[in-house]
Amino acid sequence: MSTPRRALITGITGQDGSYLAELLLEKGYEVHGLRRRSSTFNSSRIEHLYQDPHEPGTRLFLHYGEITDSARLIALLREIQPHEVYNLGGQSHVGSSFDEPEHTAETTAVGAVRLLEAVRLSGVDCRFYQASSSAMFGPDADVPQSEASPFRPRTPYGAAKLHAHWATVTYREGYGMFAVNGIAFNHESPRRGETYVTRKISRAVARIQAGLEDYLYLGNLDVTRDWGYAPEYVDAMWRMLQADQPCDYVIATGTSFSVRDFVVAAFDHAGLDWEKHVRCDERYIRPTRESLLIGDAGLVKRELGWEATVHTQELVKIMVDADIAAVGHEGEPWIDRPKVGG
Ligand code: NAP
Ligand code: GDP
Repeated sequence: MSTPRRALITGITGQDGSYLAELLLEKGYEVHGLRRRSSTFNSSRIEHLYQDPHEPGTRLFLHYGEITDSARLIALLREIQPHEVYNLGGQSHVGSSFDEPEHTAETTAVGAVRLLEAVRLSGVDCRFYQASSSAMFGPDADVPQSEASPFRPRTPYGAAKLHAHWATVTYREGYGMFAVNGIAFNHESPRRGETYVTRKISRAVARIQAGLEDYLYLGNLDVTRDWGYAPEYVDAMWRMLQADQPCDYVIATGTSFSVRDFVVAAFDHAGLDWEKHVRCDERYIRPTRESLLIGDAGLVKRELGWEATVHTQELVKIMVDADIAAVGHEGEPWIDRPKVGG
């Protein structure tokens, strides 16, 4: 029997990390995940994947560590000797990045540099995926945005992602590393964090329908996003590391919807009148101008055969149905919840 390929995922406890771990395990990989030590459990998204590390044949291993700890990253890389490294860890919320700009830069920008440098210093021969973001384009971007569009971010998160993006290009060109950026547009799922707008909406719809709350407080409803389905996006990440040449790609659906469109569709799907339940809270309005995000994913389709098949209308239904099924089960491991789609 041949030795399985080994992957290291930072951010394995997050939305994308959990789907990527599933995908790689299905493909026969040995999967190693960096998880933060926390005073409460932060592994509910991967609980259903748990395997006893002492049992023969186990292919999922979790390691305590942070993207802020260079020595730990180097030691883990030497120990695991991964063939592929996926950097998905760090402060990932744009709104929070205005409150915590320094922490965002520390984990999202310098974190990526630390990991790239750890790969270089440890001498491990691996391919590197960096989770770049459409937040790098900013409010004055071309429409739609492609790999050739200029980056002009206007959020601490976007600026941090841009630092990491160019660091990845620098290690590719300077040191010959197979290091690539997936410029991913927003992607969501029932596992999306509860403070991102789509999940905030789908969860509120479920709770309002169940009579647990009456109102949903949101910021700007006119902003548009290109929202795709997270399980499809992790497949694009994997494909990028299997390519013949290291190359950066936009990952997007190519369609755009406003927050209001999402709200209307979600409340409609549950048979509720959104205007009776949605209120504005200025705390959720961002301090800088927002971007009109719509991605041109033509290159990844032509070169890697990847294309989004779940678009926003279907995504709304997946998320609302999952939250309706899960109402009252928050905090439980995914395996114990009622079927939550994806
Ligand atoms: P997520 O659900 O917020 O997951 C973030 C992960 O990073 C979690 O596992 C978190 O651990 C971990 N993390 C946070 N700080 C860390 C630190 N100091 N050291 C190590 N790990 C740390 O985000 P996601 O939606 O899966 O996104 C994955 C990546 O893609 C992120 O880098 C995000 O910025 C980027 N991205 C996402 C989207 C999107 O629409 N989802 C679009 C473009 C780019 P805990 O579980 O302990 O908090
Ligand atoms: P982002 O695109 O990475 O910032 O993802 P989010 O899901 O956090 O926000 C998507 C869009 O929804 C942004 O343009 C926000 O300004 C807008 N939005 C409107 N109301 C809210 C809210 O209550 N929470 C969040 N997170 N975003 C909101």
